[in-house]
Amino acid sequence: MKILKNFLEIIFPSHCLACEKIVNRDGLFCSECWPKLQFICEPKCQICAYPFEFQGLSLLCAKCLTKRPSFDKAVVLFRYNHILRKIISSLKYRDQTFLAKKFARLLFDKAKSEIADCDLIIAVPLHVKRLRKRKFNQAILLAKNLLKFAPEKNFIADFLVRIKDTKPQVELKKKERENNLKNAFTVNAKYLKEVRGKKILLIDDVTTTGATFENCAKILKKHGAKKVVVLAIAKTALIANDQ
Ligand SMILES: [Zn+2]
Ligand SMILES: [Zn+2]
Repeated sequence: MKILKNFLEIIFPSHCLACEKIVNRDGLFCSECWPKLQFICEPKCQICAYPFEFQGLSLLCAKCLTKRPSFDKAVVLFRYNHILRKIISSLKYRDQTFLAKKFARLLFDKAKSEIADCDLIIAVPLHVKRLRKRKFNQAILLAKNLLKFAPEKNFIADFLVRIKDTKPQVELKKKERENNLKNAFTVNAKYLKEVRGKKILLIDDVTTTGATFENCAKILKKHGAKKVVVLAIAKTALIANDQ
């Protein structure tokens, strides 16, 4: 088995996800890129995973204290930085779908208990127009790859529908962001009766302002979802009050 593994490493070497340098077969990043990744760990907000610089008295960030999000918990792997930007844009625009498989493994390890606890896995939808342009929805791709580690789980790709073609949140000011996603999502009519009482895990690639997750979770809760946990690869580190 070891001989086969070594042989495979020679003919199909693995490359660092960020810089293409050759790494060992199970590795995802090279030794130079690895330390530049910023894993989100404690201390952080217990609801939205906003990373704190220091462990304070509060378990929640200023934003969650002021207004509780509609989702119950966010699980996020990394802070969004230049390395993550490079990798995630490869996932989105260069069709490097193998990245989804690698990230799914990391997401699965990080959110094992949340995945075990949920009744249903869904993904943040793209608007039809954007889907046509990009050819695939990276959130669905992540979810499908995650399912390989939890094949017993129920995944519904079109559970939510994006009814408004919104502008990317990063390009907008705070006020515009709030309006941009208002009524942007709805539950697919054919699943309306399936929301009540469900514990739902919602997947996206990056959470910038938290507004996409918030708006999706809000509509799910409105239709009776018992619990909504959101899962993303990276979170931008905006100041807590401006998320
Ligand atoms: Zn590297
Ligand atoms: Zn928070």
